[in-house]
Amino acid sequence: MSGGLLLLLAHPDDESFMIAGTAARLTDAGRRVALVCATRGQAGSAGQPPRCTRDELPAVRERELRAACAILGIALHAVLDYEDRRLADADDAAMRQTLVAAIRAERPQVVATFDPTGVTGHRDHQAICRFALDAVTAAADPRWYSALGPAHAVRRVVWGTPVPPWEEWRPEALAGCPGVDYVVDVRGWADRKRAALRAHATQHQSVERYWFGERAESTEGGVFAYETFRHGWGVRPEPLDAGRPADDLFAGLEPAGSAGDGSARDGSAGDGSARDGSARDGSARQAAGRHG
Ligand SMILES: [Zn+2]
Repeated sequence: MSGGLLLLLAHPDDESFMIAGTAARLTDAGRRVALVCATRGQAGSAGQPPRCTRDELPAVRERELRAACAILGIALHAVLDYEDRRLADADDAAMRQTLVAAIRAERPQVVATFDPTGVTGHRDHQAICRFALDAVTAAADPRWYSALGPAHAVRRVVWGTPVPPWEEWRPEALAGCPGVDYVVDVRGWADRKRAALRAHATQHQSVERYWFGERAESTEGGVFAYETFRHGWGVRPEPLDAGRPADDLFAGLEPAGSAGDGSARDGSAGDGSARDGSARDGSARQAAGRHG
């Protein structure tokens, strides 16, 4: 099923930190949410005390990522072999080709990635933003990699924001912050977000610090109430022109399951005209993934 959301991120856990509640909300509403994770987070912590050896860490973190995706209904499109903390050194052409292939296979309306600062200043986050934007424009141009399937024009790119979780619980205050262009109410998906974060067991220190620590507790659970995003590129949501954030990453785009969202996975249809709305196929796969 195309027409959904494609996450282009650097590390296992980025999805749970950035967009877990929004992803679960969207998949519950019948949107496909897919993820390309560029590394296995092999330079990250193994936990304190360590949950595994350094050698085991990449495989352990990939398993944690798969568990988090299953909880959120995210389809894990690919985990790439790039080296954690060295993503900026990746070969531009090889990365472009890999991400163009993913975009043309998934055919999302919206791509979410980090903002150009990397949100936390992490060089891998800055790098995946650069690679994602490069691939989004290339994927739309049939002259690039014609063997990788029909061109696909993503409608919108959104970025994470640097707003920390303990400040993401007062939507009226957030609405006035420049760079907070989407405020998504995820209160109904808080338990799923907690579970996805906990699935990254080796990352328990940063998970605690951000989501379960003293500052988070001072908001009385409000850290799990809203997620914020910044508009990066493409079709602007209408409220933004009036100086207000939108409440949905798909605001102003095609609704879930509509003919226009290209619900069929149509890799075989050269011009996309043979889309026949087999959205149920995608929903079934998501449901299976959630319990898998
Ligand atoms: Zn990261």
